[in-house]
Amino acid sequence: MSTQDKNAAIEELKQLDRKHYLHPTSSLKQHQKDGPAQIFVEGKGIYLTNINGETFIDGVSTLWNVNVGHGREELAEAAKQQMMKLAYTHSFHTYSHEPVIRLSQKLASMAPGDLNVSFYTSGGSESNDTAFKLVRNYWKLKGQPNRTKIISLERAYHGVTVGATSATGLPTFQAFANALAPDFYQAKPFRTNAELGDKSDPDYEGSIRGTIEKLGSENVAAVIVEPVQGTGGVHIPPAGYLQAVRALCDEFGIFMITDEVICGFGRTGTMFGADNWDFVPDLMCIAKGITSGYIQLGAVMMKESFRDELVEMTSDIFFHGFTYSGHPTACAVALRNIEIIEQEGLVANSLEMGKELEKGLAYLEQTFPFIGKARSIGLMGGFELFKDAASGDKFEPSMRIAHRFAQACLDRKLILRPIVYEGSYVVAIAPPLIITKQENDKMFDIIADAAAAMQKELG
Ligand code: PLP
Repeated sequence: MSTQDKNAAIEELKQLDRKHYLHPTSSLKQHQKDGPAQIFVEGKGIYLTNINGETFIDGVSTLWNVNVGHGREELAEAAKQQMMKLAYTHSFHTYSHEPVIRLSQKLASMAPGDLNVSFYTSGGSESNDTAFKLVRNYWKLKGQPNRTKIISLERAYHGVTVGATSATGLPTFQAFANALAPDFYQAKPFRTNAELGDKSDPDYEGSIRGTIEKLGSENVAAVIVEPVQGTGGVHIPPAGYLQAVRALCDEFGIFMITDEVICGFGRTGTMFGADNWDFVPDLMCIAKGITSGYIQLGAVMMKESFRDELVEMTSDIFFHGFTYSGHPTACAVALRNIEIIEQEGLVANSLEMGKELEKGLAYLEQTFPFIGKARSIGLMGGFELFKDAASGDKFEPSMRIAHRFAQACLDRKLILRPIVYEGSYVVAIAPPLIITKQENDKMFDIIADAAAAMQKELG
């Protein structure tokens, strides 16, 4: 194909995209003006290649999910084999199939404590919504129908279905929905003293404990937390925080739900986020890394005792299920994906390369006065941009500094993720768990180059 024909074909695709595709979580105006920012055609390892033949490092594992990297033929083969044998059947009315049985057994063997039972969905939002419905259903059956309230944290991201949006503590997502689901409340994140009951803490009232007390614990069904807040800006809880939330839930007899949609499957240097802090939630929501994004799948894992109680109390049908709950092809891909994570030691690599990532972030922080608050756990990290990191002086929102920084990296063929939340300008970094030291060094060379150029520009 001549260059002219090729360019015409690309232009046609862009026009069609603009005309017919409403993009998720995107600037609609910019899309209408410029068309799609990228059209990707290929992925291999930590790299993505676009339709113009430009290759980028995927520094955020796309949406924090391509844990085993792009282009894994083993996963395509697992999907193909399963599709040829039995592409799909449902799991309603207790129908079953081997991939879902094997995956459930496998997850039970991996998950913390006695989280031995799985219910399947097609992603993170559906998993969280399912968890909310499960705990509310439980309390109704238990004769406590008033226990409907769900407490999540400010800055939390739990997804975009109506329930998940209502639990999401990011005002922009809530504003989009206009009307939210009832009985969702956000508490202040990470006020450790307050969680532990220190009423002299100025934020006590807004803490989880304060919120439970305000609502009346007899009205609260569950507390949901991400082990590490991702989309809200990569916030790692202080030592003891998650155990304190666990103890708080026990004290009031409230369920603790963890949203491990990002953290699960090695992201934080352990198989699950909870493994870093040694606590066991009552329900655990997973998605993303379960298939490394090769096919849609999510799950809610629950304690066997929780399931047993549901069995005992449910006299009628369990009226909750998705057409694609326990999709055979998705389960087969998940099994193979987990096998790759285990066989290639990707959790250990996440921990080891996480140390390299930490070094890279420390270098940026030491070298560039406008970079501060670097943090990471495993291969999940970020840093913040300040007018002056030492004084904490912030940039004006109109400067769109996080987006400009991400663009400067993109211009140098590295994809990172800008996050803006309440005056904080974060750049998130979360490469595939297969990353090598050389690749990590290359990534930081690019970031340093982008940072140096930006520093010059800022004067
Ligand atoms: N929970 C967390 C912590 C997430 O990061 C996300 C997505 O980024 C979700 C839930 C929603 O998952 P999904 O987009 O698969 O519905």
